[in-house]
Amino acid sequence: MSAAGTRKAGIRDLTDAQLRGRRALVRVDFNVPLDAQRHVTDDTRIRAAIPTIQLLLSRGARVILMSHLGRPKGQPDPTYSLEPVAARLGELIPQKVVFVASTDTPEAVAASRALGPSEVLLLENTRFLAGEETNDPQVARKLAALGDVFVNDAFGSAHRAHASTEGVARVVHPAVAGLLMEQELAYLGGALRNPVRPFIAILGGAKISGKIDVIRQLLPQVDGMLIGGAMACTFYEAMGLGVGTSLVEPDRVELARTLVAEAGARLTLPHDALVAPSLDAAGAARAHAVPRDKIPADEAMYDIGPRTSESYARAIGIAKTIVWNGPMGVFETPPFDAGTRAIAEAMAEATARGATTIVGGGDSAAAVVQAGLASRMSHVSTGGGASLEFLEGKPLPGVAALDDAPAAA
Ligand code: ADP
Ligand code: MG
Repeated sequence: MSAAGTRKAGIRDLTDAQLRGRRALVRVDFNVPLDAQRHVTDDTRIRAAIPTIQLLLSRGARVILMSHLGRPKGQPDPTYSLEPVAARLGELIPQKVVFVASTDTPEAVAASRALGPSEVLLLENTRFLAGEETNDPQVARKLAALGDVFVNDAFGSAHRAHASTEGVARVVHPAVAGLLMEQELAYLGGALRNPVRPFIAILGGAKISGKIDVIRQLLPQVDGMLIGGAMACTFYEAMGLGVGTSLVEPDRVELARTLVAEAGARLTLPHDALVAPSLDAAGAARAHAVPRDKIPADEAMYDIGPRTSESYARAIGIAKTIVWNGPMGVFETPPFDAGTRAIAEAMAEATARGATTIVGGGDSAAAVVQAGLASRMSHVSTGGGASLEFLEGKPLPGVAALDDAPAAA
């Protein structure tokens, strides 16, 4: 489903004739972290693509995978080779994984044609191609020669119009969403289109500036918006409260004032703050909670306070749909992880009683994983930037380029 509401075609919309013995070119997000020995240190994204790979194989398709990794500058750079990813994928699936050290070459096309029924092909990093990030139509056409069907399962790259995400989908048809992509669009799109109410949004993180469009998009739709993170301080400043040495965006104070006036009672700011003189060990040892109008002049707010955690948890407790983006505090540095942890725990309990709980944003997802609660959310988005742009109501080029689903019979 796109932000506009038309459902996009998925693998399950394809007929057997479109898949059996045919080459499915699949854009995945294998942008995984590697250590100094070039071993994959977190294979979450590789595992996330396996359902799509296995569904295609079970329907008789031959699977050709492509992905970017890191930020090579449009030319081959061994540091960013996908070869170690091929090795890891080979350990995770029963099929043999064939790796070709090129992407849009005749050699790659030959490998795609030579693929046996219980083999999977992984091509080299798409960002080794000069035309990938500029969405060069010629590169898109060359990639298109690698498949008879295109499947986009890389939600995390869908907000970028690159040759391997958007360009290729304009050339190969059918062009459909993979299972992971479908899941992302179903959860995020469902929350935006017809949320079960009460529907609340929890927004935090460092800066208002990165989240303004999300706030503006969600505010008219939600029953409540709970604010945390450093962005609360810019709102405090707008309300005339002293914020000490907290992170504030002076050029957004006016905007914060407008949002407070527009939102009325729907916008909730933290009642109290966990403050400290600094973030280092000595500072953290002196962390203490204060009401929001008592932030000391020489200290900063690094987390929401305990009263706020409790009242936000109560709001989560009666909501039926909860979208969360942005940590409540500096969750990387205890004790300033307490507010974020409290929200994650309340969300986990909400999931257990049947609410839909959605976490979007790179750092928020990391915080939920750090708290060991990822499996207890309805959905943790795999796409940081993409989930934000989706919540802002922006069309994602990698999704827009896919075929629309056939009209329901
Ligand atoms: P996401 O990636 O989930 O969208 P953001 O990138 O917007 O989240 O924000 C995450 C960052 O915000 C974290 O690095 C966190 O330390 C920081 N942050 C949260 N609250 C505060 C605060 N009160 N002061 C300073 N930094 C904060
Ligand atoms: Mg972030």
